[in-house]
Amino acid sequence: MTVPFLDLKAQHKSIRAELDAAIGAVIDSCAFAGGPFAEKFEKEFAEFCTCEHAISVGNGTDALWLILLALGIGSGDEVVTVPNTFIATTEAISLCGARPVLVDIDPATYTMNPEKLEQAISPRTRAIIPVHIFGQTAEMDRITGIADAAGIPVIEDACQAHGAEYRGKRAGSIGRAAAFSFYPGKNLGACGEAGAITTNDAEIAARARMFRDHGQEKKYVHRIVGWNARMDGIQGAILSVKLRHIDDWNRRRRENAAVYDELLSGVKGVAIPACAPNSRHVYHVYSVRVRARDAVMSSMKDLGVNCAIHYPIPIHLQKAYDELRLPKGSFPTAEQCADELLSLPMYPELGRQEITYVCDSLQKSIRRG
Ligand SMILES: *Cc1c(COP(=O)(O)O)cnc(C)c1O
Repeated sequence: MTVPFLDLKAQHKSIRAELDAAIGAVIDSCAFAGGPFAEKFEKEFAEFCTCEHAISVGNGTDALWLILLALGIGSGDEVVTVPNTFIATTEAISLCGARPVLVDIDPATYTMNPEKLEQAISPRTRAIIPVHIFGQTAEMDRITGIADAAGIPVIEDACQAHGAEYRGKRAGSIGRAAAFSFYPGKNLGACGEAGAITTNDAEIAARARMFRDHGQEKKYVHRIVGWNARMDGIQGAILSVKLRHIDDWNRRRRENAAVYDELLSGVKGVAIPACAPNSRHVYHVYSVRVRARDAVMSSMKDLGVNCAIHYPIPIHLQKAYDELRLPKGSFPTAEQCADELLSLPMYPELGRQEITYVCDSLQKSIRRG
C-alpha cells in the first residue's frame, strides 16, 4: 500500500463540477482582481469565523503583514511570537521593520507557552502573535490576559486553523485581528494563492483594505502608500465552493485523528499530540514525536508511507535570522520538537484501513530504528 501525505486530487474529484462552474462564472464576468467573487467570499468567511469583517488578500503572509501595517507597527518595535512556525510569521514582522522576539512552546500542545510570555514583553512590544499550530488554538485566555494587562494587541496566526475553536470561540474571532492562509494544502485551500484577515475592529479593517489596494480611497485617489495584495476573483469563487464543505472536511479530519489516537496511544516510543480540553482541534497536521525521527521517516517511506516534518529548523536557527543572535539552546522545547516531530498522512478522504497501515508501519519503523 502507498499512502500520500496529502491527497488534494481526491478532494477536487469530489467537488469538480462545482469548481468548474465557479471558475466558469468568473471567466464569463471577467471579475479577476478582487471584485464581486472575492467580496462574496469575504462575507461568507466572516460569518464562518463569527467575525464582523473579513478582508481577502493575496496569501497568508500578506494577511499577517497588512495587519501589522494597519496597527502602525514598524522600525524600533518588537513583536512576540514562537520559534516553531512557518517562517511567514516572522517574515511579516521583519518586513514591516520590526524585530521578532521569540517565546518557547508548550511540549504537549506545541503552542506558545504562556509561562514564558511575560518575560519576553518589553516597553517596545507592540503585538503578540500566538500561532494556532497544526490546527489547535493557542492558550488564548492566558495569553490575552497577559497582553491586556500590558495593553498590547493579540494577533492570531490562524493560517492552519480554519474552523478551530477555543472555549467555543472560532479561531479568527478571538484576538484583535487574525491572519488566514488558503494555500492549497491548508484545511481550506484555494487552487492557487490566497489569504484573509478577520477582525471585529472597523479601523483595522478599513486600513487593511486600503493597504491591500494601493492605499486607494477611491479609484486613483491614494491616501497612503499601500501595496497590491488583492485576492484573485477565481480564488474567491473557488473558496466559496470549498467553504460549503469545510465543516464536513474538518469533521473527517477529527475522526481520522481519533483513529490515530486510538491506534497509537500506549505505543512505546510514540508521543501522540495533546488536544487541550477547551479546544476544538481541526488537525491541519497530525504530528507525533519519535526518537531517531529521520531514520523512522525514511523507513516509513520505504514502506510506502509519506510523512512530513513541521518544521525541521526553528526560526532562530535559520540563516535568515542570524541577526537575532539566538544560539542553539535558546528554546529547548521548540528545538526538541524540531528534532522529533513527525507529521503523519492527514486529509479528510483518508480511510481507516490506510490509517491502520500507517500506524503498523510506524511501529515497524521504530523497531527497526
Ligand atoms: C501557511 C502559513 C502561513 C503563510 O501563508 P501563505 O498563504 O503561504 O503566505 C503563515 N503562517 C503559518 C503558521 C502558516 O502555516
